Amino acid sequence: MKPPPFSYACPDSVDEALALLAEAGDGAKLLAGGQSLVPLLNLRMAWADAVIDLNRLSELDFIVQENGTLRIGALTRHRALEVSDTVRTAQPLMARAASEVGHLAIRNRGTIGGSLVHADPAAEWPLVAVTLDAELLLRSHTGSRTVAARDFFVGPLTTTTEPNELLCEIRVPVASEQTRWGFQELCRRPGDFAIAAVACQLTLDDSQTCRVASLAVAGAHDVPLAVAEAAACLVGSRGEDAVLAEAADRAAAAVDPPSDVHGSVDFRRRMVRVLSRRALDQAWQHS
Ligand SMILES: Cc1cc2nc3c(=O)[nH]c(=O)nc-3n(C[C@H](O)[C@H](O)[C@H](O)COP(=O)(O)OP(=O)(O)OC[C@H]3O[C@@H](n4cnc5c(N)ncnc54)[C@H](O)[C@@H]3O)c2cc1C
Repeated sequence: MKPPPFSYACPDSVDEALALLAEAGDGAKLLAGGQSLVPLLNLRMAWADAVIDLNRLSELDFIVQENGTLRIGALTRHRALEVSDTVRTAQPLMARAASEVGHLAIRNRGTIGGSLVHADPAAEWPLVAVTLDAELLLRSHTGSRTVAARDFFVGPLTTTTEPNELLCEIRVPVASEQTRWGFQELCRRPGDFAIAAVACQLTLDDSQTCRVASLAVAGAHDVPLAVAEAAACLVGSRGEDAVLAEAADRAAAAVDPPSDVHGSVDFRRRMVRVLSRRALDQAWQHS
């Protein structure tokens, strides 16, 4: 299949891209890695009057750690995040999740910003952004705003991004020495989208008691879901078996999974329980 005809522009700066976006209105599509947009255009499941290519915007391609925050430019490729020493040290959960995104060829082209705006409910970056309570910086020709990842995803392939907005930056807190994480996903084959995936982050105190907990689920709900009820029961615990089992039960109860050829509602719910338990065990084993 071939895409419908569209005009094409390749701006040299974010300001130029924002001006083009404002001018083109609702008919414009931004092209980052093209790993989701191009197949959708080719299959005519998406359309565009104008395609604005972001690939010359080197100002959106960066990984910087400063003042306890890891700042990532939206045009940063999955592969760059997977192999970055800064990411591995500052947020090892992100490096681990990056390695699960599709295949190497896709990771070489696809970008974290494109994945977040594409908002596949089974994708790794939306899951990680919600788990880590990331902040997303969006710009338009009239200004900028930050939005919490937990408020960004509103449905499958749907976010709060306005047609004239460009996602510029993703900000996550740097993990401390007391931070533990777990990441588990179930796929039919390596590189496939997850049937279900779970990520967690825990902050322990000196007595190995959990003080802050976050647990989120992908692939089993219409958005990547932070499971607050499950996280709440972990706070104050020391990884006791009964508490971890309770958290996994709560995560499974919170999701509203789809049913498709890869898994029924019941199967996905059970997998959320299993993966949650494994992710929490993994986090405590890092202690
Ligand atoms: C065979 C295959 C397997 C895959 N497997 C996985 C997988 O297992 N896990 C996974 O997470 N993903 C997977 N992907 C998708 C991949 O991660 C894509 O890279 C990602 O979904 C989109 O990123 P992109 O940079 O390619 O964005 P594009 O495809 O270029 O854009 C996607 C959408 O985001 C918009 N957009 C892009 N950048 C911005 C921006 N900065 N601001 C505002 N809007 C923007 C575009 O307009 C478009 O609507 C797979 C893709 C393929 C083809």
